[in-house]
Amino acid sequence: MDYASSILGFLPGVRRSTGISELLDKLETYLPPAQIERVREAYEFGAERHQGQTRVSGEPYITHPVAVAGILADLHLDGDTLVAAILHDVMEDTPTAKAEIAAIFGQVVAELVDGVSKLDQIQFKNRQEAQAESFRKMLLAMVRDIRVIMVKLADRMHNMRTLGVMPPVKRRRIARETLDIYAPIAERLGLYAVKLELEDLGFRALYPHRYKVLEREVKRARGNQKEFIGKISESLKGTLGKAGVGGGVEGREKHLYSIYKKMRSKGISLNEIVDVYGFRIVVDSADTCYRTLGLVHGLYKPMPGRFKDYIAIPRVNGYQSLHTTLFGPNGVPIEVQIRSEEMHRVAESGIAAHWKYKSGGDVFGGIEHDRAREWLAGLVQIQEGGSSEEFLESVKVDLFPDKVYVFTPKGKILRLPTGATAVDFAYAIHTDVGNRCVAAKVDRRLVPLRTPLRNGQTVEIITAKGATPNPSWSSFLVTAKARAAIRQYLKNLKRGDAIELGRRLLNLALEEFSLTLKKIPQAEIDSAVKELNLRDADDLFEKIGLGERLAPLVARRLQPAGGSESGGAAHGPLMIAGTEGLLVTYARCCFPIPNDPIMAYLSMGRGLVIHRQNCGNLSEYRKQPDKWLPVAWEADRVRLFSSEIQLEVSNRVGVLAAVASNIADTETNIDHVTLEERDADTSALTFELQVRDRKHLARVIRTIRRMPDVQRVHRTLA
Ligand code: MN
Repeated sequence: MDYASSILGFLPGVRRSTGISELLDKLETYLPPAQIERVREAYEFGAERHQGQTRVSGEPYITHPVAVAGILADLHLDGDTLVAAILHDVMEDTPTAKAEIAAIFGQVVAELVDGVSKLDQIQFKNRQEAQAESFRKMLLAMVRDIRVIMVKLADRMHNMRTLGVMPPVKRRRIARETLDIYAPIAERLGLYAVKLELEDLGFRALYPHRYKVLEREVKRARGNQKEFIGKISESLKGTLGKAGVGGGVEGREKHLYSIYKKMRSKGISLNEIVDVYGFRIVVDSADTCYRTLGLVHGLYKPMPGRFKDYIAIPRVNGYQSLHTTLFGPNGVPIEVQIRSEEMHRVAESGIAAHWKYKSGGDVFGGIEHDRAREWLAGLVQIQEGGSSEEFLESVKVDLFPDKVYVFTPKGKILRLPTGATAVDFAYAIHTDVGNRCVAAKVDRRLVPLRTPLRNGQTVEIITAKGATPNPSWSSFLVTAKARAAIRQYLKNLKRGDAIELGRRLLNLALEEFSLTLKKIPQAEIDSAVKELNLRDADDLFEKIGLGERLAPLVARRLQPAGGSESGGAAHGPLMIAGTEGLLVTYARCCFPIPNDPIMAYLSMGRGLVIHRQNCGNLSEYRKQPDKWLPVAWEADRVRLFSSEIQLEVSNRVGVLAAVASNIADTETNIDHVTLEERDADTSALTFELQVRDRKHLARVIRTIRRMPDVQRVHRTLA
């Protein structure tokens, strides 16, 4: 706050300065009048909405959004961004709807404000480095328009500038978040000046004492170096001047936070850092940069291995310069950066330097209509094939949003492919969590397990003891891990079922020799297992259950030598209860149901397939009698079985609904219906139903037959 406004602020009846006139003055320098007028309207709207609200400092709330817009105006951002900056808190803090903003200021502004509000709703809680990186990506992934991030950075910047009024605990949390999250994002976007200020403010708020000490020491060192720096600067300028190269030379200040980080990470003393002298030379073009490099290397000897050409190979955020280190007078190292004016602009304000507004005024000269997004896209091209996978990763989240970032209840961030569901999330945590998951809460609300997750959501998985994966999940899972886990689970399940079935089949076959598995000595079984090249008895049972080994042959092998060769007690049928699991299935050609006379075909790898004895497909199978097994229905059955009926009905409106409702009245589930028009008068309907047995089905058929529109009804012929 300047002096005048702070005085005025205490005088009753005098309107406090909100900074709007300073902002409008700034805009005059680069925005067309129509855009400036929009910003002014946004101010009036915002001031009215925030009326009566104050910041912690006591100032009217509107001073904050105006200051945020001011920071963006320094970066010469466009009208939409500035309007959004002024309105950035109205959705959060006042009863203002997105639609209202859209109606008055346009859809673009509404989306920007909405984007900033959404970012405000998520907070970084976890201190781990890897998590910070994920959080940064999550923020970037959440914004479709990169200007949302710029408003957010400016918002953070102003909050950091005015952080002093906050209680210490809050101050430290915000400072930490600024250093971990926002300064690196500013760097990633090449907003170098923003990054430096955020770091400086964050460092000062987080470690006030260290900051003060370091600041004092660096000032002292700089004072001593002034003369030396001046001398080198003069000789550099002289050399360039003689060669006819125009360009500015300036001594380069190292920033406190980067000094501090260097001291900590490399364990070096302050003196070692401040004793390195930095210079920057800004010339007119890239060509001149290389010429200048030659001149500088002629003046002082270059240090081997320290030259870097970031013009040919730009840094990940688009930064370009030549870097070299020289042996200065008395062997003191001198770091020199050489760049063109255009490169300098990008180095200072990165993405914002490329943010061209369609002013019609052609401030930067005609061709510059590209937007930041295109700049990013261009950078991706530059970097392709290069070493900058990291950059690709980070801008890709904006350009190609194929990842979603979500929180665990403890604040850990997980990255999943777009479209990932709560079940994918559960498996990403742990296979056991996935296998036992029964429900999911997203942002504390219960959601169906198949719900796709969105960026920034907090997901909680509810598990239950003894719960098992549902095979139908595989229809919506997107992560390889979850899919593999389900497949593995089903395979294990199938193996268990196969072993059980194989044991029963073998016992049945042994009856022919008046034997059971229990009566056969273990040694006998072991030797059979070995002979067949299998691991153990379970392996043998599994093979039998899967139909890869035939139970009668194995039984014959197991009977003691001298036992009756054949003609022993004929064994009864294998009893089927419908609960055998995956290795007993019911043929869909004839839909066998309890009380039907049935047969079982041992199908390689699929186990037993149950058919009706009069099924038309049996004649083909009958050619392999050893694969056939007599089976019969167990008296106690708990499950329902699929059956199919066919109807001929008159073509009348509502006839299908009437039939379906009659079926439902018999307490029968309909799985599937098909309708086929025969001619103008009749249609054929096919229903797949769930029934208990033949009696149940007969009741359904009787019920339907009584309907006047039904001409014929019968069970599908086997
Ligand atoms: Mn704000």
